[in-house]
Amino acid sequence: MAGKVLVTGGAGYVGAHACKALARAGFTPVVFDNLSTGWAEAVKWGPLVRGDLMDRAAIDAALAEHRPVAVMHFAALSLVGESMRDPGRYWRVNIGGALNLLEGCAAAGVRNFVFSSTCATYGDQDGVLLTEETPQRPINAYGGSKLAIEGMLRDFGAAFGIAHVIFRYFNVAGADPEGEIGEQHRPETHLIPLMLDAVAGRRPALSVFGTDYPTPDGTCVRDYVHVADLAEAHVLGLRHLMQGRGNGVFCLGTGRGFSVREVIEASRAVTNREVPVLIAGRRPGDAAALVSSSSRAVQELGWEPRHSTLRQMIGDAWAWAQKPGFGA
Ligand code: UDP
Repeated sequence: MAGKVLVTGGAGYVGAHACKALARAGFTPVVFDNLSTGWAEAVKWGPLVRGDLMDRAAIDAALAEHRPVAVMHFAALSLVGESMRDPGRYWRVNIGGALNLLEGCAAAGVRNFVFSSTCATYGDQDGVLLTEETPQRPINAYGGSKLAIEGMLRDFGAAFGIAHVIFRYFNVAGADPEGEIGEQHRPETHLIPLMLDAVAGRRPALSVFGTDYPTPDGTCVRDYVHVADLAEAHVLGLRHLMQGRGNGVFCLGTGRGFSVREVIEASRAVTNREVPVLIAGRRPGDAAALVSSSSRAVQELGWEPRHSTLRQMIGDAWAWAQKPGFGA
C-alpha cells in the first residue's frame, strides 16, 4: 500500500520528521519546498523538488512527474508574532499556496490530503480542554489563515472527492530521537530552542513573555508534543485515508499543559544547568493556555504519543542543540 507522497514543506521542522516516518512506513516522500525557511540537508528520505506554492505550474509539474498517492501539506508561514505584524503576508502566502495546491490536486486526481492545522485556530478559550468540537475563534492572523484553509479543504473535499485529514497541532517540540534531524528556524522564536541557546551561552538570556496571565504561575501554558509522535500521527492519518475511512479532524496534543516556568524547571533537570531568564512583557497574539484532549486521535487512529514527556522533548532538543546543525 505504499507509493509516493508529495510533502510540501518537507525541508522544514515538522515536515522533515514526517518524511522520516513516511519512509519508515514504506512510502517515498517527495519534498516540495522553496527552502525559504527549510533546509536542503533535512531532505534525506526522497527527492527534493525546489518549488514555490505560489507557482501553480510548478505544482502541476511535480504532481504529473511523481503521481503521488497523497499530499501532505506542511508548507506555511507559522509564527504568531510575525503574523500580527504582517498579516497580509500570512493571508497571501498561506491561503494562496493552499489554494494553488488544492486546485492542482483536484486537476491531477490526487484524492488523499493531510493538512497541518494548528491550535492557534482556537484563540483564547479560558483554559478549557480543547477538543475537535470546540468552536474556533482565532486571535491572530496565523490561526485565521489556517482556519480558512480548513474551510477550503471541506469545500474541495465535497466538490472533488478529496478525502482529507486535518491535524491541529499543539506545541511541537524535541528532535528526532536518533539525532538525524531537529528544530532549526531562522530566526528562532520558539521557547525550547531559545531556552537551550541561553543554556548553552549562545544568547544572553531567555525572555519570558508575560508573568501576569490567568494561569497558576502567571506564565502561558502550552501542550507540548514530541515531533516524532506528531510525525507518526501523519502516517496513521494517511493510512486512515488510504483505507477509505473518510475525512477526519484530530487534535494532536497530550491532554497535559506546562507553563513556561515549568518548562524552564524541566530544562534544569535535564541539562544540569541554569537557564538565564529575563522577565519580559506579553507577546501580542499569545493565548493564556492551549491544552488539548488527544482522545480522538488515540481512539480512532491508534495514536500513542509515547515520546511526549517534557524530559524526552527537552533531552532530544538538547542533544540536537549540541550538534553543528544545518548550514554549519
Ligand atoms: N515564549 C517565551 N519566550 C520566548 C518564546 C516563547 O516566554 O522567547 C512563550 C510564549 O509566550 C508561549 C510559549 O512560550 O507562551 C510557547 O511559545 P512558542 O513560540 O514556542 O510557540 P507558540 O505557542 O507561539 O506556537
